[in-house]
Amino acid sequence: MIYLDNAASTWPKPPGVSDAVKKAIDEFGANPGRGGHQLAVKAAQTIEETREKLARLFGVRDPNHLLFCQNTTHALNMAIKGILKPGDHVIITAWEHNAVARPVYWLEKEAKVEVTVVDGKDERADWTSLLEEQIRKKTRMLITIHGSNVTGEVLPIAELGEMAKKHGILYLVDAAQTAGLLSFHLDEMPIDLLAFPGHKSLFGPQGTGGLYVKPDVPLQPLLQGGTGNRSEEVEQPLERPYGYESGTPNTPGIAGLGAGIDFIMKTGLREIYRHEQELTRQLWEGLQAIEGVTVLTSAAPALPIVSFTMENADGIEVATILDQHYQIAVRAGFHCAALKHRSLKTEHGAVRVSPGYFNTKEQITAVIDAVREIAAAFKYE
Ligand code: PMP
Repeated sequence: MIYLDNAASTWPKPPGVSDAVKKAIDEFGANPGRGGHQLAVKAAQTIEETREKLARLFGVRDPNHLLFCQNTTHALNMAIKGILKPGDHVIITAWEHNAVARPVYWLEKEAKVEVTVVDGKDERADWTSLLEEQIRKKTRMLITIHGSNVTGEVLPIAELGEMAKKHGILYLVDAAQTAGLLSFHLDEMPIDLLAFPGHKSLFGPQGTGGLYVKPDVPLQPLLQGGTGNRSEEVEQPLERPYGYESGTPNTPGIAGLGAGIDFIMKTGLREIYRHEQELTRQLWEGLQAIEGVTVLTSAAPALPIVSFTMENADGIEVATILDQHYQIAVRAGFHCAALKHRSLKTEHGAVRVSPGYFNTKEQITAVIDAVREIAAAFKYE
Protein backbone atom coordinates (compact mmCIF):
# COMPACT_ATOMS: atom_id res chain seq x y z
CA MET A 1 0.00 0.00 0.00
CA ILE A 2 1.27 3.52 -0.81
CA TYR A 3 0.07 5.77 2.00
CA LEU A 4 -0.62 9.35 0.91
CA ASP A 5 -3.07 10.46 3.60
CA ASN A 6 -0.57 12.05 5.98
CA ALA A 7 -2.68 15.19 6.41
CA ALA A 8 -5.18 13.00 8.30
CA SER A 9 -2.59 11.12 10.40
CA THR A 10 1.06 10.54 9.51
CA TRP A 11 2.02 6.92 8.89
CA PRO A 12 4.23 5.02 9.25
CA LYS A 13 5.53 6.42 12.51
CA PRO A 14 9.30 6.84 12.94
CA PRO A 15 11.34 4.17 14.73
CA GLY A 16 10.96 4.42 18.50
CA VAL A 17 7.31 5.54 18.62
CA SER A 18 5.64 2.14 19.00
CA ASP A 19 8.45 1.00 21.36
CA ALA A 20 7.75 3.99 23.61
CA VAL A 21 4.01 3.19 23.63
CA LYS A 22 4.69 -0.46 24.45
CA LYS A 23 7.16 0.44 27.20
CA ALA A 24 4.60 2.73 28.84
CA ILE A 25 2.09 -0.12 28.84
CA ASP A 26 4.43 -2.96 29.79
CA GLU A 27 6.79 -1.30 32.24
CA PHE A 28 4.85 1.43 34.04
CA GLY A 29 1.18 1.16 33.08
CA ALA A 30 0.11 2.81 36.32
CA ASN A 31 -2.09 5.89 36.64
CA PRO A 32 0.11 9.00 36.63
CA GLY A 33 -0.82 10.47 40.00
CA ARG A 34 1.17 13.44 41.18
CA GLY A 35 3.11 11.85 44.07
CA GLY A 36 2.09 8.27 44.89
CA HIS A 37 4.02 5.08 44.28
CA GLN A 38 7.06 4.61 42.06
CA LEU A 39 5.14 3.38 39.03
CA ALA A 40 2.73 6.33 39.15
CA VAL A 41 5.72 8.66 39.47
CA LYS A 42 7.40 7.08 36.45
CA ALA A 43 4.22 7.47 34.37
CA ALA A 44 3.91 11.14 35.45
CA GLN A 45 7.59 11.77 34.62
CA THR A 46 7.07 10.40 31.12
CA ILE A 47 4.23 12.87 30.53
CA GLU A 48 6.31 15.78 31.82
CA GLU A 49 9.27 14.76 29.66
CA THR A 50 7.08 14.93 26.54
CA ARG A 51 5.72 18.31 27.69
CA GLU A 52 9.29 19.60 28.00
CA LYS A 53 10.20 18.29 24.54
CA LEU A 54 7.16 20.04 23.07
CA ALA A 55 8.14 23.25 24.85
CA ARG A 56 11.65 23.10 23.34
CA LEU A 57 10.26 22.40 19.86
CA PHE A 58 7.67 25.20 20.02
CA GLY A 59 9.83 27.83 21.75
CA VAL A 60 7.85 27.87 25.01
CA ARG A 61 9.80 28.69 28.20
CA ASP A 62 7.30 27.28 30.71
CA PRO A 63 6.03 23.82 29.62
CA ASN A 64 3.04 24.21 31.96
CA HIS A 65 1.36 26.38 29.34
CA LEU A 66 1.11 23.37 27.02
CA LEU A 67 -2.04 21.41 27.88
CA PHE A 68 -2.42 17.84 26.67
CA CYS A 69 -5.64 17.03 24.80
CA GLN A 70 -6.96 14.04 22.84
CA ASN A 71 -6.58 15.75 19.46
CA THR A 72 -6.82 19.16 17.78
CA THR A 73 -10.62 19.12 17.96
CA HIS A 74 -10.53 18.76 21.74
CA ALA A 75 -7.96 21.59 22.00
CA LEU A 76 -10.01 23.91 19.77
CA ASN A 77 -13.21 23.19 21.70
CA MET A 78 -11.42 23.97 24.96
CA ALA A 79 -10.11 27.25 23.57
CA ILE A 80 -13.40 28.33 21.98
CA LYS A 81 -15.79 27.30 24.76
CA GLY A 82 -13.34 28.30 27.49
CA ILE A 83 -13.23 31.91 26.32
CA LEU A 84 -16.35 32.98 24.42
CA LYS A 85 -19.36 34.16 26.43
CA PRO A 86 -22.92 35.17 25.42
CA GLY A 87 -22.86 38.52 23.61
CA ASP A 88 -19.30 38.08 22.32
CA HIS A 89 -18.47 38.39 18.62
CA VAL A 90 -15.98 36.03 16.98
CA ILE A 91 -14.34 36.22 13.55
CA ILE A 92 -13.28 33.09 11.67
CA THR A 93 -12.20 32.42 8.07
CA ALA A 94 -13.86 30.35 5.37
CA TRP A 95 -10.82 28.07 5.47
CA GLU A 96 -11.70 26.70 8.90
CA HIS A 97 -12.07 23.00 9.55
CA ASN A 98 -15.35 21.86 11.10
CA ALA A 99 -13.36 21.54 14.35
CA VAL A 100 -13.59 25.35 14.50
CA ALA A 101 -16.73 26.03 12.46
CA ARG A 102 -19.00 23.63 14.34
CA PRO A 103 -18.24 24.72 17.93
CA VAL A 104 -18.51 28.35 16.85
CA TYR A 105 -21.87 27.82 15.09
CA TRP A 106 -22.98 25.80 18.12
CA LEU A 107 -22.25 28.78 20.36
CA GLU A 108 -24.05 31.07 17.94
CA LYS A 109 -27.18 28.94 18.34
CA GLU A 110 -26.91 27.99 22.00
CA ALA A 111 -25.12 30.90 23.63
CA LYS A 112 -25.85 33.95 21.46
CA VAL A 113 -22.29 34.39 20.32
CA GLU A 114 -22.15 36.33 17.03
CA VAL A 115 -20.08 34.83 14.23
CA THR A 116 -18.55 36.49 11.16
CA VAL A 117 -16.95 34.36 8.45
CA VAL A 118 -14.37 36.04 6.21
CA ASP A 119 -13.43 34.57 2.85
CA GLY A 120 -10.27 35.85 1.19
CA LYS A 121 -10.31 33.10 -1.48
CA ASP A 122 -6.61 32.28 -1.84
CA GLU A 123 -3.45 33.05 0.08
CA ARG A 124 -2.62 36.11 -2.04
CA ALA A 125 -5.56 38.04 -0.55
CA ASP A 126 -4.92 40.79 2.01
CA TRP A 127 -6.18 38.68 4.89
CA THR A 128 -5.13 41.16 7.56
CA SER A 129 -7.25 43.99 6.11
CA LEU A 130 -10.17 41.69 5.33
CA LEU A 131 -10.29 40.39 8.90
CA GLU A 132 -9.57 43.78 10.49
CA GLU A 133 -12.56 45.32 8.66
CA GLN A 134 -14.89 42.98 10.55
CA ILE A 135 -13.78 43.96 14.05
CA ARG A 136 -16.48 45.49 16.25
CA LYS A 137 -16.72 46.65 19.84
CA LYS A 138 -17.85 43.20 20.98
CA THR A 139 -15.24 41.21 19.04
CA ARG A 140 -13.50 39.01 21.58
CA MET A 141 -11.65 36.54 19.45
CA LEU A 142 -10.12 35.93 16.03
CA ILE A 143 -9.70 32.31 15.00
CA THR A 144 -7.79 31.25 11.91
CA ILE A 145 -6.35 28.12 10.50
CA HIS A 146 -2.58 28.26 9.92
CA GLY A 147 -2.45 25.97 6.88
CA SER A 148 -5.44 24.70 4.88
CA ASN A 149 -6.07 20.95 5.05
CA VAL A 150 -7.72 21.19 1.62
CA THR A 151 -5.27 23.21 -0.46
CA GLY A 152 -2.06 23.34 1.61
CA GLU A 153 -2.03 27.16 1.48
CA VAL A 154 -0.81 29.11 4.52
CA LEU A 155 -2.12 32.25 6.25
CA PRO A 156 0.23 34.96 7.65
CA ILE A 157 -0.34 34.19 11.34
CA ALA A 158 2.34 36.54 12.70
CA GLU A 159 0.81 39.51 10.87
CA LEU A 160 -2.74 38.50 11.85
CA GLY A 161 -1.64 38.15 15.48
CA GLU A 162 -0.13 41.67 15.49
CA MET A 163 -3.39 43.04 14.11
CA ALA A 164 -5.46 41.21 16.75
CA LYS A 165 -3.13 42.43 19.50
CA LYS A 166 -3.48 46.03 18.30
CA HIS A 167 -7.26 45.72 18.80
CA GLY A 168 -7.04 43.84 22.12
CA ILE A 169 -8.60 40.70 20.64
CA LEU A 170 -7.52 37.17 21.54
CA TYR A 171 -6.03 35.19 18.66
CA LEU A 172 -6.48 31.40 18.39
CA VAL A 173 -4.60 29.46 15.69
CA ASP A 174 -5.50 26.01 14.38
CA ALA A 175 -2.07 24.55 13.63
CA ALA A 176 -3.31 21.05 12.76
CA GLN A 177 -1.44 21.05 9.44
CA THR A 178 1.68 22.95 10.48
CA ALA A 179 2.75 21.91 14.00
CA GLY A 180 5.89 19.81 13.67
CA LEU A 181 6.44 20.95 10.08
CA LEU A 182 6.90 24.74 10.28
CA SER A 183 9.04 26.39 12.94
CA PHE A 184 7.32 28.14 15.88
CA HIS A 185 8.64 30.42 18.64
CA LEU A 186 5.32 30.65 20.41
CA ASP A 187 6.38 32.79 23.38
CA GLU A 188 7.70 35.40 20.96
CA MET A 189 4.71 35.25 18.57
CA PRO A 190 1.54 37.37 18.93
CA ILE A 191 -0.60 34.25 19.35
CA ASP A 192 -2.70 33.73 22.48
CA LEU A 193 -3.76 30.14 21.91
CA LEU A 194 -2.64 27.48 19.43
CA ALA A 195 -4.20 24.04 18.98
CA PHE A 196 -2.11 21.19 17.60
CA PRO A 197 -2.39 17.43 16.94
CA GLY A 198 0.14 14.86 18.12
CA HIS A 199 -0.75 12.37 15.41
CA LYS A 200 0.10 14.37 12.29
CA SER A 201 3.48 16.07 11.70
CA LEU A 202 4.62 15.51 15.30
CA PHE A 203 4.62 11.75 14.46
CA GLY A 204 2.86 10.70 17.68
CA PRO A 205 0.06 8.14 18.04
CA GLN A 206 -3.62 8.98 17.57
CA GLY A 207 -5.35 10.22 20.71
CA THR A 208 -2.74 12.92 21.29
CA GLY A 209 -2.70 16.68 20.79
CA GLY A 210 -2.57 19.85 22.82
CA LEU A 211 -3.30 23.51 23.38
CA TYR A 212 -0.72 26.24 23.95
CA VAL A 213 -2.04 29.12 26.07
CA LYS A 214 -0.22 32.38 26.88
CA PRO A 215 0.06 32.85 30.67
CA ASP A 216 -2.34 35.81 30.94
CA VAL A 217 -5.19 34.33 28.86
CA PRO A 218 -8.28 33.75 31.08
CA LEU A 219 -9.20 30.25 29.93
CA GLN A 220 -11.89 28.06 31.53
CA PRO A 221 -11.32 24.29 31.41
CA LEU A 222 -13.57 22.20 29.14
CA LEU A 223 -13.76 19.36 31.66
CA GLN A 224 -13.98 19.43 35.42
CA GLY A 225 -12.86 16.49 37.53
CA GLY A 226 -9.92 14.81 39.20
CA THR A 227 -6.61 16.52 38.56
CA GLY A 228 -4.35 14.63 40.98
CA ASN A 229 -3.86 17.78 43.06
CA ARG A 230 -5.96 19.60 45.69
CA SER A 231 -8.12 16.48 45.96
CA GLU A 232 -9.68 17.70 49.21
CA GLU A 233 -11.38 20.61 47.37
CA VAL A 234 -14.57 20.41 45.27
CA GLU A 235 -13.79 23.53 43.23
CA GLN A 236 -11.89 22.95 40.01
CA PRO A 237 -8.29 24.16 40.45
CA LEU A 238 -7.23 26.48 37.63
CA GLU A 239 -3.49 25.85 37.74
CA ARG A 240 -1.91 24.96 34.43
CA PRO A 241 -1.57 22.31 33.25
CA TYR A 242 -3.40 19.99 35.64
CA GLY A 243 -6.58 22.04 36.11
CA TYR A 244 -7.15 21.66 32.35
CA GLU A 245 -6.31 17.96 32.08
CA SER A 246 -8.93 16.34 34.31
CA GLY A 247 -9.18 12.56 34.12
CA THR A 248 -6.62 9.86 33.38
CA PRO A 249 -4.38 10.97 30.53
CA ASN A 250 -3.23 8.95 27.52
CA THR A 251 0.16 8.05 29.01
CA PRO A 252 1.13 5.52 26.29
CA GLY A 253 0.15 7.96 23.53
CA ILE A 254 2.03 10.82 25.17
CA ALA A 255 5.10 8.56 25.60
CA GLY A 256 4.91 7.78 21.86
CA LEU A 257 4.54 11.48 21.08
CA GLY A 258 7.78 12.10 22.98
CA ALA A 259 9.54 9.61 20.68
CA GLY A 260 8.00 11.33 17.64
CA ILE A 261 9.43 14.68 18.78
CA ASP A 262 12.83 13.03 19.38
CA PHE A 263 12.76 11.98 15.71
CA ILE A 264 11.99 15.54 14.57
CA MET A 265 14.80 16.94 16.74
CA LYS A 266 17.26 14.36 15.40
CA THR A 267 16.24 14.74 11.74
CA GLY A 268 15.63 18.50 11.82
CA LEU A 269 12.46 20.39 10.90
CA ARG A 270 14.21 21.83 7.87
CA GLU A 271 15.21 18.46 6.46
CA ILE A 272 11.69 17.07 6.95
CA TYR A 273 10.18 20.13 5.27
CA ARG A 274 12.73 20.04 2.41
CA HIS A 275 11.91 16.43 1.57
CA GLU A 276 8.14 16.94 1.79
CA GLN A 277 8.37 20.10 -0.36
CA GLU A 278 10.31 18.20 -3.02
CA LEU A 279 7.59 15.55 -3.15
CA THR A 280 4.86 18.21 -3.15
CA ARG A 281 6.38 20.04 -6.12
CA GLN A 282 6.71 16.78 -8.06
CA LEU A 283 3.13 15.89 -7.23
CA TRP A 284 1.69 19.29 -8.12
CA GLU A 285 3.57 19.43 -11.45
CA GLY A 286 2.58 15.89 -12.36
CA LEU A 287 -1.11 16.26 -11.49
CA GLN A 288 -1.68 19.65 -13.07
CA ALA A 289 -0.32 18.36 -16.38
CA ILE A 290 -3.02 15.66 -16.63
CA GLU A 291 -5.89 16.32 -19.03
CA GLY A 292 -9.25 16.34 -17.23
CA VAL A 293 -7.67 17.07 -13.82
CA THR A 294 -8.01 20.45 -12.07
CA VAL A 295 -5.58 21.04 -9.21
CA LEU A 296 -7.05 23.38 -6.60
CA THR A 297 -3.96 25.60 -6.24
CA SER A 298 -2.34 27.64 -8.99
CA ALA A 299 1.17 26.79 -7.72
CA ALA A 300 2.75 24.07 -5.58
CA PRO A 301 1.50 24.80 -2.03
CA ALA A 302 3.68 25.48 1.02
CA LEU A 303 2.32 22.40 2.80
CA PRO A 304 2.45 18.80 1.55
CA ILE A 305 -1.17 18.74 0.38
CA VAL A 306 -2.32 18.68 -3.25
CA SER A 307 -6.04 18.37 -3.98
CA PHE A 308 -7.74 18.00 -7.32
CA THR A 309 -11.05 17.37 -9.04
CA MET A 310 -11.55 15.25 -12.14
CA GLU A 311 -13.84 15.88 -15.08
CA ASN A 312 -16.81 13.46 -15.20
CA ALA A 313 -15.78 11.82 -11.91
CA ASP A 314 -16.77 12.10 -8.29
CA GLY A 315 -13.84 12.50 -5.84
CA ILE A 316 -14.88 9.48 -3.80
CA GLU A 317 -15.02 7.33 -6.94
CA VAL A 318 -11.45 8.30 -7.86
CA ALA A 319 -10.17 7.61 -4.33
CA THR A 320 -11.92 4.23 -4.29
CA ILE A 321 -10.28 3.24 -7.58
CA LEU A 322 -6.88 4.38 -6.28
CA ASP A 323 -7.42 2.29 -3.16
CA GLN A 324 -8.88 -0.85 -4.74
CA HIS A 325 -6.97 -1.04 -8.03
CA TYR A 326 -3.71 0.73 -7.30
CA GLN A 327 -3.25 0.19 -3.54
CA ILE A 328 -2.86 3.94 -3.02
CA ALA A 329 -4.47 5.56 0.06
CA VAL A 330 -5.70 9.15 -0.37
CA ARG A 331 -8.61 11.13 1.12
CA ALA A 332 -11.61 12.25 -0.92
CA GLY A 333 -14.77 14.22 -0.22
CA PHE A 334 -15.08 17.43 1.76
CA HIS A 335 -12.24 16.91 4.28
CA CYS A 336 -14.37 18.16 7.23
CA ALA A 337 -13.99 21.61 5.67
CA ALA A 338 -17.51 22.52 4.53
CA LEU A 339 -16.83 26.28 4.35
CA LYS A 340 -13.64 25.89 2.30
CA HIS A 341 -15.26 23.51 -0.19
CA ARG A 342 -18.22 25.87 -0.55
CA SER A 343 -15.77 28.67 -1.31
CA LEU A 344 -13.92 26.50 -3.86
CA LYS A 345 -17.27 25.39 -5.38
CA THR A 346 -16.17 21.76 -5.45
CA GLU A 347 -19.70 20.40 -5.52
CA HIS A 348 -18.62 16.77 -5.64
CA GLY A 349 -15.72 17.12 -3.24
CA ALA A 350 -12.06 16.73 -4.18
CA VAL A 351 -9.29 14.16 -3.94
CA ARG A 352 -6.51 15.06 -1.50
CA VAL A 353 -3.03 13.58 -1.84
CA SER A 354 -0.81 14.34 1.15
CA PRO A 355 2.75 13.02 1.18
CA GLY A 356 4.76 12.57 4.36
CA TYR A 357 8.40 12.26 5.30
CA PHE A 358 8.50 8.52 4.59
CA ASN A 359 7.16 8.74 1.03
CA THR A 360 9.51 8.49 -1.94
CA LYS A 361 9.71 10.09 -5.40
CA GLU A 362 8.85 6.69 -6.92
CA GLN A 363 5.62 6.60 -4.93
CA ILE A 364 4.69 10.07 -6.17
CA THR A 365 5.36 8.95 -9.75
CA ALA A 366 3.09 5.96 -9.12
CA VAL A 367 0.16 8.11 -7.94
CA ILE A 368 0.56 10.54 -10.87
CA ASP A 369 0.57 7.62 -13.34
CA ALA A 370 -2.50 6.10 -11.68
CA VAL A 371 -4.44 9.38 -11.77
CA ARG A 372 -3.51 9.82 -15.45
CA GLU A 373 -4.94 6.37 -16.26
CA ILE A 374 -8.12 7.02 -14.29
CA ALA A 375 -8.63 10.41 -15.95
CA ALA A 376 -8.20 8.84 -19.41
CA ALA A 377 -10.75 6.15 -18.54
CA PHE A 378 -13.34 8.69 -17.33
CA LYS A 379 -12.90 10.83 -20.40
CA TYR A 380 -14.19 8.10 -22.69
CA GLU A 381 -16.92 6.69 -20.42
N1 PMP B 1 -8.06 21.39 11.88
C1 PMP B 1 -7.48 21.04 10.71
C2 PMP B 1 -6.98 22.12 9.79
C3 PMP B 1 -7.30 19.70 10.37
O1 PMP B 1 -6.73 19.38 9.21
C4 PMP B 1 -7.77 18.71 11.26
C5 PMP B 1 -7.62 17.25 10.91
N2 PMP B 1 -8.05 16.91 9.65
C6 PMP B 1 -8.37 19.12 12.45
C7 PMP B 1 -8.49 20.46 12.73
C8 PMP B 1 -8.87 18.12 13.44
O2 PMP B 1 -7.77 17.45 13.96
P1 PMP B 1 -7.92 16.20 14.93
O3 PMP B 1 -8.24 15.05 14.06
O4 PMP B 1 -6.55 16.10 15.56
O5 PMP B 1 -8.97 16.51 15.89
